[in-house]
Amino acid sequence: MACLSKNGSHMRSVYHVCIPHTLRDFFDYYAGDIEPSIGARVWVPFGRQKRMGVVIGEHVPDSPRLNMKFIETLIDERPVLSGESLVLCHWISNYYQSPLSEVLPLALPKKYRNGDELVLPTCQTFQLTMAIDEAYPLLSKRAIRQRALVDFFALQQIPQTKKMIQLAGFSMDQVDALLTLGILSIHIEIEKPANNQLLSQPLSLNPEQALAVQTIQAHMDTYQCFLLHGVTGSGKTEVYLQVIAKILAAGRQVLVLVPEIGLTPQLLARFRQRFREPMVVIHSKLSDSERQRAWHWAKEETVKLVVGTRAAIFTPMPALGLIVIDEEHDTSFKQMEGVRYSARDTALMRAHLRHIPIVLGSATPSLESLYNCQRNKYTLLRLNHKALESRPLQYQILDIRNQTLKHGLADPTLRLIEEHLQRQQQVLVFINRRGFAPVFLCHQCGWIADCRACDAHLTLHRTMGRLICHHCGLIQAIPRECHACHGRELLPIGTGTQRVHDFLTHYFPTTSIVRIDRDEVRKKLAFDDYLSRINSGQAQLIIGTQMLAKGHHFPQLTLVVILDADNGFYNQDFRALEHLGQLLMQVAGRAGRAELPGQVLIQTHLPKHPLLNQLVQQGYDDFANELLVLRRQASLPPYHFLTLIRAQGKALPGVLNFLHEVKAQLNNFELQIWGPAPAPLARKGGMHRLQLLLKSPSRRKLKEALTQLRSWLILNKSAKSIRWNIDVDPMDLS
Ligand code: ADP
Ligand code: ZN
Ligand code: ZN
Repeated sequence: MACLSKNGSHMRSVYHVCIPHTLRDFFDYYAGDIEPSIGARVWVPFGRQKRMGVVIGEHVPDSPRLNMKFIETLIDERPVLSGESLVLCHWISNYYQSPLSEVLPLALPKKYRNGDELVLPTCQTFQLTMAIDEAYPLLSKRAIRQRALVDFFALQQIPQTKKMIQLAGFSMDQVDALLTLGILSIHIEIEKPANNQLLSQPLSLNPEQALAVQTIQAHMDTYQCFLLHGVTGSGKTEVYLQVIAKILAAGRQVLVLVPEIGLTPQLLARFRQRFREPMVVIHSKLSDSERQRAWHWAKEETVKLVVGTRAAIFTPMPALGLIVIDEEHDTSFKQMEGVRYSARDTALMRAHLRHIPIVLGSATPSLESLYNCQRNKYTLLRLNHKALESRPLQYQILDIRNQTLKHGLADPTLRLIEEHLQRQQQVLVFINRRGFAPVFLCHQCGWIADCRACDAHLTLHRTMGRLICHHCGLIQAIPRECHACHGRELLPIGTGTQRVHDFLTHYFPTTSIVRIDRDEVRKKLAFDDYLSRINSGQAQLIIGTQMLAKGHHFPQLTLVVILDADNGFYNQDFRALEHLGQLLMQVAGRAGRAELPGQVLIQTHLPKHPLLNQLVQQGYDDFANELLVLRRQASLPPYHFLTLIRAQGKALPGVLNFLHEVKAQLNNFELQIWGPAPAPLARKGGMHRLQLLLKSPSRRKLKEALTQLRSWLILNKSAKSIRWNIDVDPMDLS
């Protein structure tokens, strides 16, 4: 585009082009005689390379720019990224202090980041071009399978896909033969997502659920955030389903974010059975083309319902009418590397931009969300009762001080497990540590097998016959003798899932036991297999990590045993207690969901801990309120805002120096600054790790300081040997 400048000469437009992974927000280019639209992809010269970029803006400069390069070619006629997506990316870039060139790639499927053509998802179908009696004479007498294939096609009324043909037992070679003879023809059609089969009807709501649905429904065309707070089984999902039904009926789209797809098969099944509208599920295990297809369908509004994990927040949905975030407190919504964005907070911003409601659901809301309800920023919707008749959980705190533990289990614990097993009920033993034992120690001199590259002990994985570092992944053979004194008596200390499994298998030899942790469930199939064994009641005793804490409903489960609650109380991280409370409630929520009463046993060395007792006796709300008081006293989130600046490098002095320089840059701002101090894991993968913690009651002031710091960091070349990142609203301080 050209326009008249002040002095009357024609000035050419300059285009801002965001080029992925270039550390900058954008670079400027002239366009020659093409007129790219904002949000379209282009090829541009970049150094000696040709790179893909997205046009994110245009302006007419006052004077011509010398030496400015030209956009080479336009990839898209129409924008790939909508104005809404661009605004959201800009917001993330500003708020999380990441260059736009890092943020934008999050919003584009990989195929499009490569500069590939935007293609509609297609599928091939085959059909007969002639009647059977015309086809037969064309085939050789001996081609029995080809004849059978012709018969098969004649029987089917509709064109067949490759998959249907293969399912019927034919090969693609046979199909090719018929294609060559002209008996079959091939068609390329735009693929459409499949409709679901309606299998379930809306339930009639109890008064609390009805009120929740009505309240949300009254805000369909405005931004409003609702916190749907109710224990596991209180009917939150039913509320989502009924609100979603209303939005879909109005012809609009719905985005549902969940923590981890693999862990929510039951939720997905309920969605599929309730809505006929096609639905896509977006998660990290999708192939590039599956992701591209889902993205495309959502963009074209062919799909109305998108369920996905964190990254699905970037799905283009032009008719978006509602966002739901299930388990809103879950830490997986925050990305812990690269652009450290929170999908929950980004979703709030997206809902705000679009003037639509957003529903956050949880049995154990984050302190941030509870605080926002107290301040009337969110509307609290409370479900106080279980939807189905059930007796309240019975909690027991077991004092294990001075008790002999058998591989982590006390005698009263074993007796209780036995009682439940004898009644043919299921028991879950929860221990949030995988492996056999977290420490491998020399009984003679106290030497401990440590990781070479990290300040951490190696975990013994006995079945694999290895010591593994859970921080950097280093794998070692199990030493036969002590590296210090050559003693031969090496002992596993502490308990992990494998050890509990080995012991319980031996202790209850006739019981069917499964172990569920990341080592055991690397393959997705295995996990589904385990779940069905648990659901069918085939597996009676379940040993698991927090993988099991979410989303699963085990009807025969009556006892949950928590082996290592104390870890959370010893951890210095300021969110550790909040997360412990959430985890305990989530795990406990697995028990007693049906008509059988549930029992929860917590082994602890801190039986008198006031917060533990409060959690168990008064419940999560009182516990959370108490934590909020503590947070206020300590000026921690949600009252003050935090940003963590992490730095790491091979040489400690360099890292330290770097953070001192950073600190000096921040001197002129009204901030509290802690550090530089070693990170809780001070050395990882051979790198020294230090950090600087910034704190302020004013989000705006913190942001101003960070924005200035970031421009300094980009210019400052000395930062090259140091890897650093800025984590706004960090989830943990490690
Ligand atoms: P949550 O999501 O809070 O864990 P769910 O929505 O999964 O709760 O509900 C728990 C159980 O109660 C499910 O089996 C569900 O079908 C049932 N349920 C929920 N609401 C109702 C209702 N209004 N009437 C009857 N059963 C209900
Ligand atoms: Zn030794
Ligand atoms: Zn390591």
